[in-house]
Amino acid sequence: MPTPSQTTAAVLVDYNVPPELRSLPVPELEPGAALVKVEASTMCGTDVHIWRGEYAAGGLSKLPLVPGHEIVGRVVALGSERRVDALNRPLAEGDLVAWSYAWCGHCYWCTIAKQPTQCESARMYGWGPADQAPYITGGFSEYAYVMPPCSMIKVPDGLDPAVAASATCAFRTIIHGYEKIGRIETTDTVVIQGSGPIGLYALAYAVQSGAHRTIMIGAPTARLDIAKRWGAEVALDVTGSSVEERHARVHELTDGRGADLVVECSGANAAFVEGMDLVRRGGRYLVIGASEPRPVEMRATYFNLRQLTVAGTMSGDISHYYRALQFLHDHGDRFSFGDLLGSRFTLDKVGDALLGMEQMREIKPVILPSAPTS
Ligand SMILES: [Zn+2]
Ligand SMILES: [Zn+2]
Repeated sequence: MPTPSQTTAAVLVDYNVPPELRSLPVPELEPGAALVKVEASTMCGTDVHIWRGEYAAGGLSKLPLVPGHEIVGRVVALGSERRVDALNRPLAEGDLVAWSYAWCGHCYWCTIAKQPTQCESARMYGWGPADQAPYITGGFSEYAYVMPPCSMIKVPDGLDPAVAASATCAFRTIIHGYEKIGRIETTDTVVIQGSGPIGLYALAYAVQSGAHRTIMIGAPTARLDIAKRWGAEVALDVTGSSVEERHARVHELTDGRGADLVVECSGANAAFVEGMDLVRRGGRYLVIGASEPRPVEMRATYFNLRQLTVAGTMSGDISHYYRALQFLHDHGDRFSFGDLLGSRFTLDKVGDALLGMEQMREIKPVILPSAPTS
């Protein structure tokens, strides 16, 4: 594959307006870097929040920016010193790959705490700026630049690239969360709050892990139907039931105890407050979705008197990417992962995809940057 000097990308030049198609320079490859041709990107809810300017105030997102951080692509060129993936498998031109964010590898969080997702100097994809090298650090671009500190992993053969892309934020975060909260026992009742992509992936993992019973709380009906097909014994519609009714149902199913494990994938503060009441005494609560900046009032005694274990995770390291991709590859017969994906969009229609996701018409839009635009 020839190495291009320019690439077409969907560039967000201002918040709340559709991204524009722009030509961006393809930088010279530094040692350890790689250039990939993006095969598929999927849209994450965070892309919508970035588009709406919700992270602009803290300087987290920097205009102009190429959105998109769920990406898989084919290797076009490898910089010197980039020869293998995270499993020490040789990398070659044409390989379909995913890659982690760029963590510094030197700070306290990277080395001592061994939690690189908290790295002080993390460089993430889809946050900009696109007017400084290496420019193309977002998935809604024909080509993307893999920065030298990023770990790369080959996508298992036979896995749909769009499904694989969805592993690189949503599912790897779930894998990270379950690692932190601990194993699922075969006697566990697991409640999943939120039936978006993160919630449905969390459900699939709990079902495959052999949970005694899984209960999905979410909406709309189409997503609850996926949950039931994937093994949820009970699916409770948040729009057609009250907090009290859901509390009663979960306790009725657990001999009055409450769930052994509750996984918060909804993002809403109300769900967090509700979820604390669904966990049994001595149970576990995993918080993954929470995204509201407003504080929540809680009684501190909730934690000690009920002996709760609460854990939170964000993002994931390359081990979580690997395990997420492998799960999708190994269990695609049992769970129709493609059902999570929404419509396909070309680069010039990224604005429509953002709007569709915001209005919940799309679960997870797929961007195909190499498809011809209209
Ligand atoms: Zn994301
Ligand atoms: Zn670091």
